[in-house]
Amino acid sequence: MKNCQLLSIVIPLHNEEDTFAPFLAAMQQALQDWTSEVELLFVDDGSSDQTWMRVCQAAQTESQVQGLRFTRNFGKEAAILAGLEAARGEWVIVMDGDGQHPPSMLPQILNAATDETVGIVAARKSARTADGWLARMFAKHFNRFMLAATGLDLDGASDFRLMKRAVIDTLLRMPEKIRFFRAMTVWTGFKQIDLPFDVQPRLAGTTSWTTGGLIKLAVTGITAFSAKPLTAVFRLGLLGIFISFLLAVQALWSWITGVAISGWTSLTLIIIFFGSANLLGIGILGAYLAQIFDEIKARPVYLVGERVTRKS
Ligand code: UDP
Ligand code: MG
Repeated sequence: MKNCQLLSIVIPLHNEEDTFAPFLAAMQQALQDWTSEVELLFVDDGSSDQTWMRVCQAAQTESQVQGLRFTRNFGKEAAILAGLEAARGEWVIVMDGDGQHPPSMLPQILNAATDETVGIVAARKSARTADGWLARMFAKHFNRFMLAATGLDLDGASDFRLMKRAVIDTLLRMPEKIRFFRAMTVWTGFKQIDLPFDVQPRLAGTTSWTTGGLIKLAVTGITAFSAKPLTAVFRLGLLGIFISFLLAVQALWSWITGVAISGWTSLTLIIIFFGSANLLGIGILGAYLAQIFDEIKARPVYLVGERVTRKS
């Protein structure tokens, strides 16, 4: 393995007290042939369990371990950003701290990164065996939509990836507060190598994601990267005008020919259709407005309450 100056590994943690020890052991084993300096940057995203204590304890004995703790739960995207901002390495890896992104893959990723033309080495999910069918279907449709709307292919994409310094600096220059890490790295356009991996079962504990959280992530991902839904509302409006023109001709014709009043059903259907279409349109506008509102407030993405640095 070719070594570079410093390797930073960013690991977001939320309530991972039981996974921490086996994860750290697996990391150390995976990196045993890596001779240059490594910093393991654990970002405790406001855990309510003993996660932070585990990080602090590990930092006492393991010089590679560093940590920062948010004042509260700000979300995984915020934790990744905090890690990227703190990382000093020429190469930076982001991975989950629950073992689902297998540490045993690190040598392969580091090896692929020795190609100097490559900016990103991304681990791509080849099987989603750890997910339920509903989650798989949701992910498939979301990724299809993102590809159609933005041209970014996120099929199988995960947050498990290595990025060179140029990529990190680009990400840190992107000022948006609402962030979607995996799509943003693809957006940078640096040359990317994909390495397939099977998502592993969790080492312990349970996922922190809720269905509501995932839906919010999907809406954010779409509204942050594409204005296509707004165009769709516009098109729907055009369709409505076309239909109403046809109906106007029919209504006038009925009036001219003196046909008796009928059409309760069609009237009801029209009212329901356009009523719902209006609400849908307002809802989509609202999603963009909420995004602009959050961006314009420009509050910090996260707040750090505590830090633990390497033992000198
Ligand atoms: N995580 C986080 N903040 C959160 C939720 C999750 O930092 O609000 C971390 C979590 O500890 C793990 C990673 O993000 O290291 C992935 O989370 P999880 O395993 O819960 O999600 P899944 O694997 O189901 O996508
Ligand atoms: Mg997980």
